[in-house]
Amino acid sequence: MSRSTQVVVIGGGQAGLAAGYHLRRLGLDFVVLDAQAAPGGAWQHVWDSLRLFSPAAYSSLPGRLMPPQPGEIHPDAQHVVDYLTDYEKRYELPVERPVRVAGVHRDGGRLRVETDSGTWRARAVISATGTWWRPFLPAVPGRAAFEGRQLHAAEYRSPAELADRRVIVVGGGNSGAQIAADLAYDTTLTWVTRRPPRFLADDIDGRALFDAATARRRALDEGRSDTGGVASLGDIVAVPPVREARDLGLLKAEPMFGRLVPDGVAWADGTRAEADTVIWCTGFRPALSHLAPLGLRGPRGRIAVTGTQSVDEPRLHLLGYGDWTGPASATLIGVGRPARDAARRIANLVGRTRRAGQAGGGAIVSSLPIAASTDGSTR
Ligand code: FAD
Repeated sequence: MSRSTQVVVIGGGQAGLAAGYHLRRLGLDFVVLDAQAAPGGAWQHVWDSLRLFSPAAYSSLPGRLMPPQPGEIHPDAQHVVDYLTDYEKRYELPVERPVRVAGVHRDGGRLRVETDSGTWRARAVISATGTWWRPFLPAVPGRAAFEGRQLHAAEYRSPAELADRRVIVVGGGNSGAQIAADLAYDTTLTWVTRRPPRFLADDIDGRALFDAATARRRALDEGRSDTGGVASLGDIVAVPPVREARDLGLLKAEPMFGRLVPDGVAWADGTRAEADTVIWCTGFRPALSHLAPLGLRGPRGRIAVTGTQSVDEPRLHLLGYGDWTGPASATLIGVGRPARDAARRIANLVGRTRRAGQAGGGAIVSSLPIAASTDGSTR
């Protein structure tokens, strides 16, 4: 089956929904295709104890504040899933799921989106597929030799499954610190980090991170020197469980080991630690394989963008993958602005049409071109 629309949004997590909100406001005809069976994107799959690093109000998408979670300053993942479920319903976002996009192709004046449920043709595509689906494992000698269990943070759920085991947690970011804190009480834990852990000050949360990312982007855009952004503040947000474990002295990190051995890990000086399980909290990469047919990857594997727009395929926007697709765009609070900019640029490209009643659809009543500034951005 083949269908046509002005815009296809690939991915129905927070980034895809924020895009949908702005496309709806601009009166564009669009569909959101999401591979998950239910709303909530990656938040449906994270570990049980995960807490947002910001209070609810600072974790909101455009148009609707996230309500506070009773009894919690830092909401849990289920609260985010509930919020996103309500969000797509409230704004009547046309999400089709489960629909997995296999590839995006050039097809004359359109982009053709091939899925496991048929084909869509569109004037523009927003890719908002996140990173959760592409866990990154570093090349460490001996990984194949280790006889215990290895899992990525994306597969970890709760300490119950590892009770009384000898566990090595690798990684000095938020995932590593949160999972190490989670396991510090019921397992024999070794936490290893490439450099000594850098905790942000206890009173810094997502608000400050968002401000730091925005200030950095602004400085770079205005040709001023790099402020260092979020990285200048530290690597680990001291959410309450992390703070607690740290203050109890349970989060002491060892330097990164040199190799894995059959029964554990070994450092260059000959020291060893025995382990049943190694958990790799070593990050994620953008899930972009569906864009391969467009041949956009540059020499270092990156797709070149200005803002969210692909330099080599202007009908394509990339949203929510990290600072390179908009400051703090991989966060709930940060994705709204790049989503708005992407929707406006697309409206410019396709010739914007506004529907009566905006949020709920209805008859098309007018066509409204948007003024573009000389630097190509829209205001
Ligand atoms: P996702 O939530 O991954 O949504 C992408 C959607 O696209 C998914 O539903 C997926 O199934 C779908 N998809 C993927 N490929 C295809 C395809 N080929 N076809 C169709 N659909 C596809 N941010 C904060 O603001 N606050 C926090 O406290 C915070 N904590 C985090 C903790 C962890 C451990 C991690 C990993 C991230 C955290 N983030 C946080 C960052 C970010 O908010 C989340 O990663 C968020 O899930 C990103 O949303 P997204 O919409 O970009 O991607």
